[in-house]
Amino acid sequence: MSSYIPVIGLEVHAELLTKSKVFCTCSAEFGGSQNSRCCPVCSGMPGTLPVINQTAVEYAVRAGFAMGSDINKFSVFDRKNYFYPDLPKAYQISQLNLPLCINGSVPIEYEEDGVKKTKNIRINRIHLEEDAGKLVHDDLNGVSLADYNRCGVPLIEIVTEPDMSSAAEAKAFVEKVALLLQYAGVCDCRMEQGSIRADVNVSIMKPTDTEYGTRAEMKNLNSIKAIGRAIDFEIYRQGKLLDMGKKVVQETRRFDDNRGETKAMRSKENAHDYRYFPEPDILQVNFTDEQLDAIKASLPEMPDARTERYISSFGLSENDARILVGSKILSDFFDDSVKAYDNPRSVCNFINGELMRRINLGEIALEALPFDAQQFAKLVQMADTEKVSKNDAKDIFREMSEKGGDPEEIARAKGLLITNDTGKALAVIDEVLAANEKAVAQYKSGDAKVFGFIMGQCTKALKGVCTPKAIKEELEKKLASL
Ligand code: ADP
Ligand code: MG
Ligand code: ZN
Repeated sequence: MSSYIPVIGLEVHAELLTKSKVFCTCSAEFGGSQNSRCCPVCSGMPGTLPVINQTAVEYAVRAGFAMGSDINKFSVFDRKNYFYPDLPKAYQISQLNLPLCINGSVPIEYEEDGVKKTKNIRINRIHLEEDAGKLVHDDLNGVSLADYNRCGVPLIEIVTEPDMSSAAEAKAFVEKVALLLQYAGVCDCRMEQGSIRADVNVSIMKPTDTEYGTRAEMKNLNSIKAIGRAIDFEIYRQGKLLDMGKKVVQETRRFDDNRGETKAMRSKENAHDYRYFPEPDILQVNFTDEQLDAIKASLPEMPDARTERYISSFGLSENDARILVGSKILSDFFDDSVKAYDNPRSVCNFINGELMRRINLGEIALEALPFDAQQFAKLVQMADTEKVSKNDAKDIFREMSEKGGDPEEIARAKGLLITNDTGKALAVIDEVLAANEKAVAQYKSGDAKVFGFIMGQCTKALKGVCTPKAIKEELEKKLASL
């Protein structure tokens, strides 16, 4: 196959985490028995009037800020007409020429051929619209059933410029968008429940071409893996067509997850096919500078800023920083722990070690940890300052993971607190030496190897009383004085 440059642009749809739908007061929650979350407005009854959900507008603006966009202070809604039973009004309320957000940019980090790379993906626009219902096709009985619970759930569409050129870049982009939306607190990002879906546009061109090639669009991909596979297949399919002297036709294709192939679905529709016109029933959105500033100021510190802070102020490795920042809950937990015990590296090691291990084993969940950051930090500090041994700290952590609790109390109850009580240590060492007269004599006659054995006996008897270092010092002193 000749070498072509792939050109990829994405349209990512994300459902917003509002309590109610975007134009009525029905619950926007996922699930529910079929058509139990519907009213005359979202089921498209004639004569009903939509009222816009202010939180949905604010969330869309938050998403815009999270992706470095400019916000249009003046924004309008439009009707996008199409006839398909998942949309009972026969039009979708969306935004065409004056969307809420324009001109953003999302930095991505990804690995290709074992090399770490970064790139900026430009965002053309982010607009607010309503989701459609769900159709269940019952082939056995030859009917299709409509569930309108999802109809009217607020949705943002994030449209990129065609800036990506591989499956790895597109996958990294969707992951980054999900992370930004998670930090902005506007989407639960559960791809398996469809709260993030992507339409993928792919074309290819020769290195000498000055214009983009004809693209195909794959709609509604709902996993990172499917996005990658659909892109790879499309690049391959289009390359084969061009190699044979054939043309790529502009069309919408469906990705078949089982076969790993895309299939022609329909010829691509253009904006004029939708007969867009201004939505007459919804007021235009007008923001003041103060309102926009307040929304911007309410965003938390975002992932790239955190990664940078962890590396430059805390001295963490880039890899460690990215693991922590990869989840807002985890990163917040880390920050709270460091506030309680100012040793970022040590806290990070314990999180990326023991904490992640228990999470990966499914024993604890990040969303519902049975201990708080202060208790966690205290345990890390106790291990660092040798109030408990490193090994015992793991035991204590296991108990905290099972039942919660204060690490110091657990350590005391289990007799694991190291008191470094030298008086007690000396008495125990005396006992051990008395019980091992033969070994002591051997040691005194110059057999240094036997020290390890004596030390082992003392450590066992002094577990939880002294650190090994303190025991060794006392033991050496004692033996020298004999
Ligand atoms: P439409 O409104 O017809 O869907 P847009 O111009 O809004 O078209 O583009 C939709 C998506 O397709 C955008 O993400 C854009 O980056 C991408 N895109 C546009 N042209 C190409 C192309 N030649 N190859 C790949 N992607 C493209
Ligand atoms: Mg489109
Ligand atoms: Zn409703």
